[in-house]
Amino acid sequence: MGRVLVVEDEPAIAELIALNLRHQGFEVVVAADAEAAQAQIDRVLPDLVVLDWMLPGASGVQLARRWRADPRTREVPLIMLTARAAEADTIAGLDAGADDYLTKPFSPGELQARIRAVLRRRAPSALDLPVEAGALRLDPGSRRVSHGSGGARVELKVGPTEFRLLHVLMSHPERVHTRSQLLNRVWGDHVFIEERTVDVHVKRLREALAPAGAQGMVETVRGAGYRFVAQPGADGEGAA
Ligand code: CA
Repeated sequence: MGRVLVVEDEPAIAELIALNLRHQGFEVVVAADAEAAQAQIDRVLPDLVVLDWMLPGASGVQLARRWRADPRTREVPLIMLTARAAEADTIAGLDAGADDYLTKPFSPGELQARIRAVLRRRAPSALDLPVEAGALRLDPGSRRVSHGSGGARVELKVGPTEFRLLHVLMSHPERVHTRSQLLNRVWGDHVFIEERTVDVHVKRLREALAPAGAQGMVETVRGAGYRFVAQPGADGEGAA
C-alpha cells in the first residue's frame, strides 16, 4: 500500500488519522509543522499528503504552493484539512493545488473515502487494487500476474522489481514514462541508480511476459522511454 504524509499540529487529530490509515494498510508518517513536513518530503516522496491548513510557521496553503512549484513534488496528491468553511478559503486551498478539501470536524470514514478517490485518480498503484489491461491482470494483494481470459489464464513468473515496474506501467496504460520517472516510482525517489538499470529490468519483464506472448505490451518509445499498451503491435515501434 501507499505511503501517506499527515501534516497536522494537533496531536489528537494526527493520531486519529494515522491510526485509521495504518489500519487500512497505509504506511503513515506524521509531521507537526511545516519544517518537519518539508524534511519528510525531502527524504521520501509520499504517495499522498494530508495537509492541515493552520500550522505553526508556514501555513498549509504556503506549503501546498511551494510543493506545486517544485518539479519534484508537483505531482504529489494533496488533501487539505481545515476548520475553516468559508467559500473563499476553499477556493484558496484548491487554487494552491489541493486535489480535495475536507472541513473539520470530519469522520475518519470520510477522509478514507476521499483518500481512496484521490489515489484512484492520481496514483492508482498506491492502492492494492488489481489492475487489468487487455488480457493481462496484476494483483498486488496476491502478487500474481496472469494472462488470458476466463478459465484459460496463464500464471506468469515475475520478479519483485519487474512486478513493481509492471504495476506502475499498467496503472497508466498508453502513458509514456521516462527512465527517470520509472526510477523514482519503482526504485524510490532519491535512490541513485543508472538509467540503464531500467532497460535491464524492462528486458527481464518482457522475458517474464513472453510465455504468454505478451512481451509486446511493454513498448519502447524511441528517445522518450517506455509505455504499456493493452493491445500491442498496432502502430509500429514495438518491443525493440
Ligand atoms: Ca492545525
